[in-house]
Amino acid sequence: MQVREGGDYSKHRGEVPGPGLYNHAMSKPAKAQHCDVAVVGAGVVGLAAAAGLALAGYHVTLIRREPAPPPRASDPPWDERVYAVSPSSRGLLGALGAWDLLDSARAAPVYDMRVYSGSELHFGAYEAGIEALAWIIEQDNIAQALEQVVSASGSVTQVVAEVAAADLTTDFCSAMLTLESGERLQARLVVAADGADSPLRKMAGIGFEEQVYPQRALVAHLGIEHAHRDCAYQWFGDHGILALLPLPSDEPGGQGRCSVVWSAPTELAGALAQATPEEFAQRVQAACGNALGNMFALGPVLGFPLRRRVAASLLAPRLALVGDAAHLVHPLAGQGLNLGLGDVTDLVAALKREGAPDGDDPGRRLRLLRYQRARALPIAAMGTTTGALQQLFDPATSAALGSLAAAFIATRELGWRVLERAPVLKRLLIGRAIG
Ligand SMILES: Cc1cc2nc3c(=O)[nH]c(=O)nc-3n(C[C@H](O)[C@H](O)[C@H](O)COP(=O)(O)OP(=O)(O)OC[C@H]3O[C@@H](n4cnc5c(N)ncnc54)[C@H](O)[C@@H]3O)c2cc1C
Repeated sequence: MQVREGGDYSKHRGEVPGPGLYNHAMSKPAKAQHCDVAVVGAGVVGLAAAAGLALAGYHVTLIRREPAPPPRASDPPWDERVYAVSPSSRGLLGALGAWDLLDSARAAPVYDMRVYSGSELHFGAYEAGIEALAWIIEQDNIAQALEQVVSASGSVTQVVAEVAAADLTTDFCSAMLTLESGERLQARLVVAADGADSPLRKMAGIGFEEQVYPQRALVAHLGIEHAHRDCAYQWFGDHGILALLPLPSDEPGGQGRCSVVWSAPTELAGALAQATPEEFAQRVQAACGNALGNMFALGPVLGFPLRRRVAASLLAPRLALVGDAAHLVHPLAGQGLNLGLGDVTDLVAALKREGAPDGDDPGRRLRLLRYQRARALPIAAMGTTTGALQQLFDPATSAALGSLAAAFIATRELGWRVLERAPVLKRLLIGRAIG
């Protein structure tokens, strides 16, 4: 078995840092500390939420399981986990001051996207009138930029702790979090950014709907013979959904590099999991019809389960869910993190004080409802679109249709061709994809 279990796609791999890295004590909080907002979880979404709410004028306590990683080395090893960051997410990272802190030599713009399913669909930044369709950036690179913003903020206190219990109805004006140490933190609002298996969501009694996809995502970096020309590629077919995302070369004029995300049907994923990284590179090369010439392994192959989840509500009294705690989507559109960063943008907007006097309450129900309303459509639309596309190309769908399968596939191909010839529809799709 060559494939490594990737765990959470975004899980931090930081080492334990030495003391003195933080502008605020990382020690356990004193008893019954108070804050405006407690953000639980320091993934990319939690870090962005802490930074955004601090910028909006709130005193934030960021509760994290692990200390922040040490500052990024000048040329660190590549992180297999990369994100296609949408223009809207770039806007948020810019507003938070994180965009300029990224290691820009390790971010690649995507100017074109080519999607194949029998015929070809082309999306271009030029025709959409935007700078780039997305930027491909390593998880570590984004997280480190946000870590810098958060540690430089005078309004964020960081606490390394695990939340053991949440009392959301202790009184009308605050929630009480009990940490595993037994110490307590009183907050006017709790923002749960604690990932797909969100303990806070469970403590708040919020259920969720779940669909487990009969697929597994295999992720790796591959060297490529032909230049990718800042183009992202995606193939839909019986092999599942195969995406090649452009990354910068290791050195100017050096060998090209791309990130592969292969959402393969379970059986095929099992076979691919037995392959060496070199054999995996050859399978990818064959599945994409040599689109980028010879391919070479540049590191390990990581595997991730694929699920769709939507929380029954984004809210409980004095609590809001953001990021994967609120929704999980199929990575075929590369939008999970973008959706979470959209939550942050809308949450900060809904909680803005709008000239209210200091001491204004961020956990007021009306404000939280404003947040939930703003997110209803984007979350539903992303879940439905990615779910439908997954199903449309799932071999199990054709198999279940029996003798109707050929007609179904023909209709699918026809729809694809219509889309390529309908600039208005394509523009709509690009708009949805870039958030
Ligand atoms: C194969 C694959 C490819 C993907 N590609 C893309 C892409 O191209 N673009 C994109 O936008 N998205 C992509 N995604 C989705 C993206 O990875 C997630 O949507 C995103 O990382 C979610 O971030 P998060 O901060 O909400 O959750 P997480 O990153 O899971 O963070 C949760 C944090 O909370 C902490 N935590 C949990 N419980 C507690 C507790 N009790 N107390 C304190 N801390 C706690 C955890 O330790 C963790 O640090 C992809 C996903 C997969 C599987």
